[in-house]
Amino acid sequence: MKINTIVWGENIHDQTSPVVAELYPGGMHTCIANALNVDENINASTATLQEDEHGLTEARMNETDVLIWWGHAAHGDVDDKVVERVVQQVWSGMGLILLHSSHFAKPFKQLMGTPCGLTWREAGERERLWVTSPNHPIVNGLPDHFELEHEEMYGEPFSVPEPLETVFISWFQGGEVFRSGLTYRRGAGNIFYFRPGHETYPTYHDDNIKKVLVNAVHWANNSQQRRTNMTDAPNTTVDNALEKIVERGLKLHADGEEGFK
Ligand code: ZN
Repeated sequence: MKINTIVWGENIHDQTSPVVAELYPGGMHTCIANALNVDENINASTATLQEDEHGLTEARMNETDVLIWWGHAAHGDVDDKVVERVVQQVWSGMGLILLHSSHFAKPFKQLMGTPCGLTWREAGERERLWVTSPNHPIVNGLPDHFELEHEEMYGEPFSVPEPLETVFISWFQGGEVFRSGLTYRRGAGNIFYFRPGHETYPTYHDDNIKKVLVNAVHWANNSQQRRTNMTDAPNTTVDNALEKIVERGLKLHADGEEGFK
C-alpha cells in the first residue's frame, strides 16, 4: 500500500511573481509532489487554495495518509470548515507536515494553540541546518549538517509548544538560530514542522531537502486504521467497572449520561 499524500499549495506567488514562477514552473506544490513520487512507496498528488473546498473534500481527506501544507500570503482565505476538517483528520490519525511560512497556517495554529510567531529577514542568507536528533527517521541518509546557500532567515523566539522532538536547528549568516524541524503528536496524528522553503529560492530543488520530505512522509504516516469519534467522552457506569465497586458520595450525573462539551 502506497502512502497517499496530498501536497497543498497556496499557489499565489507561484502565479503572480515572475521569480517564483521561473523557479517553480508548475507551482511549488508540483515540484514537491514530483520529488515525493520518486519514492516507490509514496503516491503524491496536489491540491490548491483555488480549487473547490481548496481541493480538500471530506472524501479525499478520508483517503489521505499525509497532508503537506505550504501557505504564506493567504492564510486568512482558507475556509474555516476546511481547517476544522484538517484538524479532525489529524486527531483521527492523518499525518500533517507544515512547511516554512505555514507556521501561521490556520490548522497549525489551531493544533498548537500558541501564537506561532518568530522573527524574519529576507536577505538571501546562508542557512546551516544541524541535525539534533541523529538516527531519527526524518534524518535518515543525511549528513550531520547541510547548507542552503540562499534562504530567508527565521529567528527565535518561535512561540510554539515544546515539541516532542527537535530534529533540526538552523543557523543563519546574520547570527540568528531557529528550531527548524519539530515533531508533535496531536490525537493520533503525527505532525512535523519544517522551516526551509521561501518561495524566491530554489530550496525544494535541493537533494537534502527532498530527502527530508520523503523521510517525513514515511515518519508521519500512521498505517493503523483511522480513529473515529475522537471528540467523544463516553460515561462508564459503576456496573461496567472491571473490578466490583460500590458507588459512594454525592453525585451530579445520572449513570450513562452524556457529558458536557
Ligand atoms: Zn518566506
